Amino acid sequence: MKALIYPEYGRLEVGEWPEPHPGPGEALVQVAACGICGSELGSFAAQSRRRVPPMVMGHEFAGTIAALGEGVEGLILGQRVVVNSVVHCGECDLCRRGLTHLCRRRQVFGMHRSGAFAERVSVPANIVYPLPESVTSLQGALVEPLANGIHVVDLARGNDLETVLVCGAGTIGLFSMQAARAAGAQRVAATDTNPHRLEMARQMGADAVWNPAERNVAEAALAWTDGEGVSLAIDAVGTPDSRRDTIRAARPGGDIVWIGLHHDEATLNTFDVVLPEKRIIGSYAATDADLRRAIQLFAARRIRIDPWVETFPLERGDEVFLAMLRQELPAIKAVLVP
Ligand SMILES: [Zn+2]
Ligand SMILES: [Zn+2]
Repeated sequence: MKALIYPEYGRLEVGEWPEPHPGPGEALVQVAACGICGSELGSFAAQSRRRVPPMVMGHEFAGTIAALGEGVEGLILGQRVVVNSVVHCGECDLCRRGLTHLCRRRQVFGMHRSGAFAERVSVPANIVYPLPESVTSLQGALVEPLANGIHVVDLARGNDLETVLVCGAGTIGLFSMQAARAAGAQRVAATDTNPHRLEMARQMGADAVWNPAERNVAEAALAWTDGEGVSLAIDAVGTPDSRRDTIRAARPGGDIVWIGLHHDEATLNTFDVVLPEKRIIGSYAATDADLRRAIQLFAARRIRIDPWVETFPLERGDEVFLAMLRQELPAIKAVLVP
């Protein structure tokens, strides 16, 4: 079958890849659409050990059931589905606590197992979700990143969502913003160093947007909240600067959720966290409930993707991937269609 192959560090090519066969408990999904994730662009650029070639990447996907392995019940051939990006074991202490996204033996598509930049992919049947007729396959491919945004907002439970700051207006930032709105956020602000992305954040409903290259984000956030600080500050970038911005912008007792993975290390003023009792929470992937909620929000037409998501044929996958890496395309999210 055809796939976008990552044959060695620094190279990508569209070519032939071995046909997957569903094992017991697995389903074969004919991929309809698969989004290129920022984490994949980052891994490729950094030649990260988190994704080791030769392999096929791709973990944000929707498609139809093309075959069923032994013992699979509840799915039917031809059914339209989305798939979670994280495969869990169902047996470890974390799975037993319901934290399947943190499974001790978790596997991510296009990282630990073959991904969906391909015509077909084998997936465990227990992470497959039926897609309602009202949700398109393109929206289906965006269910996973939207679920990530929903998860970020959900981690801040216990705090009100009076004012929310989202650092980074990429896919996760724009979805976190919309997830916050859907969860009842009253006012939302977004930051990005790219003016085009700030404009998209505006169109997606941000009440205020700031460019950190031109304005001190923490000062802007304090002015925007009459000196109080925001209830929830989300870092969807992951640089030392964006992490410091979220800490300073949050009000005392406020929540800070970090999902961005740009840099590993950062220097922080820890007293800024301890003295005003701010809570820093890490976020990774999404739960079963987040996925279901994401499908519901798309079905209810609460989520907008039209001006910032673009589709491309899988045949052009290598070229599109590299163009996204160099930020040469107007799209914030590129989705490959086999
Ligand atoms: Zn992703
Ligand atoms: Zn587990």
